[in-house]
Amino acid sequence: MNVAKCKRCGRLFQKYSSHPVCPECAKKEEEEFLQVKAFIAEHPEENVESISRGTGVERHLIVRFM
Ligand SMILES: [Zn+2]
Repeated sequence: MNVAKCKRCGRLFQKYSSHPVCPECAKKEEEEFLQVKAFIAEHPEENVESISRGTGVERHLIVRFM
């Protein structure tokens, strides 16, 4: 069995793919991704810094989403 440590919460989880986070965090990231997407759609001129402030999503995640 392939077990990995979640990059977000540090919990051990069963690794199915190359995804670095556990299924729970993956769900959260999915929600944050949609949030960021919606924010960018409304504010196309904003940079990562303001997107982070506007959505509460961490900057490194936003960079990954992009
Ligand atoms: Zn996790």
